[in-house]
Amino acid sequence: MDAFPPPSDTLSALEAIADATLLFDNHAHPFHLPNPKTHLPRLRALLTEAAPPHPSSTLAFYRSLRDIYRLLAAESPPSSSSSTRDTSSIGYPNEAPPQVAHPHAPDTQSETETIVEETRARIGVWPLAERCFSAAGIAAVLLDDGLHVPRGVRAVSLEEVTTRLNIPVAKRVLRIEKEAELALADVIRENEYQAWSRAPREPPSHTGTEKRPRNAMRARQFRAALTARLCPLPEGVVALKSIAAYRGGLDLDLEGGDEELEEALAGVRGERIEDRVIVACVVRMGLEVARQYKVPLQIHCGFGDTDLDLGRANPVLLKSVVERYPDVDIVLLHAAWPYTREAAHMAAVHPGVYLDLGLAIPLLSVRGMFRAVDAALEIAPVAKLLYSSDAHSAPDVFYLAARWGRRVIAAAVAAAVTSGDLDLSEAKSAIRMILAENAVRLYRLPVTV
Ligand SMILES: [Zn+2]
Repeated sequence: MDAFPPPSDTLSALEAIADATLLFDNHAHPFHLPNPKTHLPRLRALLTEAAPPHPSSTLAFYRSLRDIYRLLAAESPPSSSSSTRDTSSIGYPNEAPPQVAHPHAPDTQSETETIVEETRARIGVWPLAERCFSAAGIAAVLLDDGLHVPRGVRAVSLEEVTTRLNIPVAKRVLRIEKEAELALADVIRENEYQAWSRAPREPPSHTGTEKRPRNAMRARQFRAALTARLCPLPEGVVALKSIAAYRGGLDLDLEGGDEELEEALAGVRGERIEDRVIVACVVRMGLEVARQYKVPLQIHCGFGDTDLDLGRANPVLLKSVVERYPDVDIVLLHAAWPYTREAAHMAAVHPGVYLDLGLAIPLLSVRGMFRAVDAALEIAPVAKLLYSSDAHSAPDVFYLAARWGRRVIAAAVAAAVTSGDLDLSEAKSAIRMILAENAVRLYRLPVTV
């Protein structure tokens, strides 16, 4: 695609391997089930991190609109009651020529969007989900259910994902900041007569213990409440996740003691945890729990929603965290884009660091996705790269990420064959590793891929 376009037979051989590999989606979110009065989010809202979503002229939106049009226009899967389907024959990216759902193909983006949105609304969320998941070919999905669920919808359950969508394995990723907020709310409620939040904010004492507020009572209660939520790991949880990048950034000071924490907790107003000292404490506790239960900690890195300070989401800021917990597996999410090279370097030099490629796939242009995977492959071990969709809210992105994940990973690996880094059999194995096998090993799940 760039300097070394692969011969077409290499590329097509590797695309065939990618198409034949069932995916392990190591980071996504539950899609939502609207009630009769609410709607599926529009595709344009799923394909931008802007809030509110602006009329989209990103390349990803042009491309995805056509992809979903073709998916919806294609012949329906044989049956929506897929409970008897053999998972070894899950459909792969649906390239069948579209059946004519409309008398003529739309001429413009807005015409395509109108048809796509009308069709999505008409068929409803479950048939849409069945179409998307069937075409995606997914063996396992890990869902972070800590995202806000808007009024009037509910998040699909793990059980529904496995039974109604025939995904063999669906497990939970626990968002530690969300658990910390729930823990904090519990503790504040229990302490209402002691006026937790009305207490005057006392400066930390450096001269003696007599002025230390409540003898670090808040700190101890908060830690105990959060520990109770994380230990033992709740049913179905196979990884933890931190969004510290959204709460002040990844330059975390894990050295703070109870005195600073007590002071920070006394200053808490509202339920959202933003204080840097509290966030650092939560991440430290998350790392301890991850070590105790031998589960990976996923960390949001790189681009994201509008409330993210991108400059503080560079994974190199995690150096001291990673060095302090060398025995915890840490997954840098979202290709850390645009810090993909930095993240790849961390995966190369720290044994416990892995690099996920989701969100960059499928939110970038095709060449952008290719370059991100290519940049990761410059130095990151192949065994440290992981596929994900970061899908949320609606089923469409599970399909879009699967389609383009397979294609760009195959293309980047094919380029490595052409340039002489890999031979064809190594390349085939690399594709299976990135799409599924690395995650099976990392998350220790009983999945056959
Ligand atoms: Zn996510």
